[in-house]
Amino acid sequence: MAQGNEPQTEEAVPQVDREVAERWIGALHRCPRCGKRKPPAEFYARQDRPGRERPHCCDCHKAISLAWQRENRDLHNEANARYRDRNRDRDRERSRRRRAKLKREGEARA
Ligand SMILES: [Zn+2]
Repeated sequence: MAQGNEPQTEEAVPQVDREVAERWIGALHRCPRCGKRKPPAEFYARQDRPGRERPHCCDCHKAISLAWQRENRDLHNEANARYRDRNRDRDRERSRRRRAKLKREGEARA
């Protein structure tokens, strides 16, 4: 190149790159809380509607969840207790398998 180390001006950006960039920006989601545009990967997926993202970005979702947990400590603890209750059998089975595996590995080593 003849110009050497001259800084690139905006005109130097090829048209096709700009089209790609605009398409990419069009795919960004706007978080209603922080107002930032972010790629879909920065939004959590909705469990009730597969293929759809939650409206708030991950950062805002975490902040909202934490604030909710702090304000509703009792409800949050209750929900956790219910979750543990529901999954007690599964957790027990998982621990049992883990113990059996460790035992087998211990015997193999001995
Ligand atoms: Zn946000």
